[in-house]
Amino acid sequence: MEKLRFEDWYDEFNRHAGDLYPGRYTREFVDELIAAGRKVRDLVPRKRSLVVAHNYQFPELQESAAQVGDSLGLSRYVAAQDSPRVDFCGVWFMGETAKTIVGDRAKVYMPDRPGCSLVESIDYAKIVHWKRRNPDGIVISYVNTDAGTKAVSDYICTSRNAAKVLDHAARRNPGKRILFLPDKFLGSVSIAQSSVADPTLIDLYDGCCHVHAKIGETALEEAFDRRPDAELLIHPECGCAAHCMSKVMQGNSPYQRAFFLSTEGMIRHAQASPAKEFIVGTELGMVYRLRREIPGKTFHPVSAEATCEYMKMNTLGKLLASLENDEIEVTVDPEIAGKAQLAIDRMLTIQ
Ligand code: SF4
Repeated sequence: MEKLRFEDWYDEFNRHAGDLYPGRYTREFVDELIAAGRKVRDLVPRKRSLVVAHNYQFPELQESAAQVGDSLGLSRYVAAQDSPRVDFCGVWFMGETAKTIVGDRAKVYMPDRPGCSLVESIDYAKIVHWKRRNPDGIVISYVNTDAGTKAVSDYICTSRNAAKVLDHAARRNPGKRILFLPDKFLGSVSIAQSSVADPTLIDLYDGCCHVHAKIGETALEEAFDRRPDAELLIHPECGCAAHCMSKVMQGNSPYQRAFFLSTEGMIRHAQASPAKEFIVGTELGMVYRLRREIPGKTFHPVSAEATCEYMKMNTLGKLLASLENDEIEVTVDPEIAGKAQLAIDRMLTIQ
């Protein structure tokens, strides 16, 4: 996607994101952003940096990044480049994943140290306990986990390939128990989408992301009522996922207009669909990206509350400070990185 010119930031941010972040893009604030954006643009080649931004970042960070995407897309992109420096605008575990992938080849910096409620829902002792009870069991972790959890995992998946990773792991390890962690909503949707022969062998960890858990059945029903012609693009981490999936599978109205998709899947689906209007069931930053990349169609957030305060800790001013001062460098213990690497490699290869 072609990046916006600085002189268009004020109009375009208000056009595509004025309703997502009410009152944010005043003329004065956009002027400050433009000044920071120009400095970032000058510094990036001097620092030989590759700036990448997750879909949930503010518009000004998306416009300043060489690549915008989901965890898997950004991991693949970083893996394919040979830049000696990566500035990663996302949450901490994403920076850790990028650092594990690039190893000594590149330094990874982040504008801040944002955590993640999903990662914080993981109790490492519970994983150890499960492994003791199931010594030959298989652990599948969602990419939204810290490096320590990845290191004890056999496979890492993303929302894009979770069902395929489940299929792959079950086929390769017949009869063995599988622990899927940490997101129970993604886990239940992935089991339904997979062709695993015996789902009773899969244990779902009881974790969730607070942003997506808030998107419940009522929000969906209200969105369908407000937009009777719209399709619903729903992220499988949402709190309504299990309920919504059973309605989708039964073909209940209006759920035949609901599609479970990763954020990259949302882009592809919206481009290909004959529908002109969509309700977006994930974090607000994704609505900006959809509006920018698919200008002929209309996108509505399912909820104005769906904002991740962790992701939004990153700002353009902090990215500039990071480029100027090289402050927040991501490091991963080499032993943990070595153990996590195999599971990450599998994630990058299972399509
Ligand atoms: S939306 Fe925020 S809290 Fe939820 S999984 Fe993503 S980074 Fe973590």
